[in-house]
Amino acid sequence: MRREASQEPKFLTDSMHGKLSHWLRMLGYDTLYYPRDDDEILKKASEEGRIVLTSDTELHRRILSRGGASILLPLNKTETHLSRIAAYVKENYGTPYEEFLKVKFKRCSLCNGPLQQATSSRWRCETCGQEFWVGGHWRNISGILARVKELVNGLGKD
Ligand SMILES: [Zn+2]
Repeated sequence: MRREASQEPKFLTDSMHGKLSHWLRMLGYDTLYYPRDDDEILKKASEEGRIVLTSDTELHRRILSRGGASILLPLNKTETHLSRIAAYVKENYGTPYEEFLKVKFKRCSLCNGPLQQATSSRWRCETCGQEFWVGGHWRNISGILARVKELVNGLGKD
């Protein structure tokens, strides 16, 4: 698969990583949640040029052997998953950690549709109509992203 520097990574999550797809959309990345069998995942990811996120070693190997892109995730916490993906995106697309981990209000975390700004602090999904705003749940989101930042900043250090 050919990747251009200016291109944004797109992801596909398998049945075990539905929650992770919500996080990636919040960070502005086109993420398809695709709870199908391995053959369908291989086909879809190849057709749409998506990086597959899976904890299935066999599926991961099959994708790589066909020249596709996949990140093998440990069965672990969201923070660990996001730190792995942040490292991958930095290495392959040159996106700094700070930039990757910003909430971008570009995509609906529920359906992956594009968001339109409705007011100065409110966004609406063009596809499903869901509204988003900075509210009480924000402390929790910021807390998790802060922990991911600590994890990735520790990556290069011994
Ligand atoms: Zn939506």
